[in-house]
Amino acid sequence: MKQLTAVVIGIFLGSGAAAQVVVDSLPESLLAPGGIAVVPTQGEAVSGSFRDQRIMLAQHEGEQYAIIGIPLDAEPGPQQFKLTGAGGEQSELRFDVTYKQYRERHLTIANERQVNPNAEDMERITRESAEMRQAFSTWSESLTPVFSMRPPVDGVRSSSFGSRSFFNGQPRNPHSGMDIAAAEGTPIHAPAPGVILATGNYFFNGNTIIMDHGHGLISLYCHMNTIDVEPGVAIKAGEQIGRVGSTGRVTGPHLHWSVNLNNVRVDPVLFLGENSVP
Ligand SMILES: [Zn+2]
Repeated sequence: MKQLTAVVIGIFLGSGAAAQVVVDSLPESLLAPGGIAVVPTQGEAVSGSFRDQRIMLAQHEGEQYAIIGIPLDAEPGPQQFKLTGAGGEQSELRFDVTYKQYRERHLTIANERQVNPNAEDMERITRESAEMRQAFSTWSESLTPVFSMRPPVDGVRSSSFGSRSFFNGQPRNPHSGMDIAAAEGTPIHAPAPGVILATGNYFFNGNTIIMDHGHGLISLYCHMNTIDVEPGVAIKAGEQIGRVGSTGRVTGPHLHWSVNLNNVRVDPVLFLGENSVP
């Protein structure tokens, strides 16, 4: 089945007819901040955008869907996105975002500089966050995203996605991923196939891998002990990419795993087929 899908996509791209991708499954929809809108387009759009970011158009069982990451800062209410047809015609569709209450988390960080960085740190942080933003807005047409993922690490999950975070009592950005606690050195496996987009050591994220799954679906792995892959390498689902560590801003060894759609951090649990968001 997989082989066949790949061939069909090849033809699509070869003809340049439609910038959509044929997928085996769809992600779980959650119409809330940090969720995913899976919206039937009832047509054959060739591109689309939401908040000026390109969005994924996926064909599943003969229907086209817009698959849109909803930012954590989205207000409840109607949200509009744009579609462009093959002849250049524009249309607008909408979906409704409901209110979702995320909890608070309070963490104590021993290294004060990781909470209140000095001027030199700030330079590094600014440079790194620009690099990260650029990686997250990468668009790879030739990769076929797989939405059905397995957890990258066996470990204890804290359901902290979206939490309003306080470090040493000071408010910071909401938590944009899933934390999985495991012993230092526990292997981390790719939750889905993709290509390694970037690796590096970052001020807050420590040893980090960014993985591209195609069409704006991009995942992030942080605080690793070792990075076992190089940028540009294609990775199969289940392949080891590194080991759990405690590098960067942490209170103990764990993997921070984020999943991005259209440059928006969404709840990774929506890809695990567990049908519940705590
Ligand atoms: Zn985290």
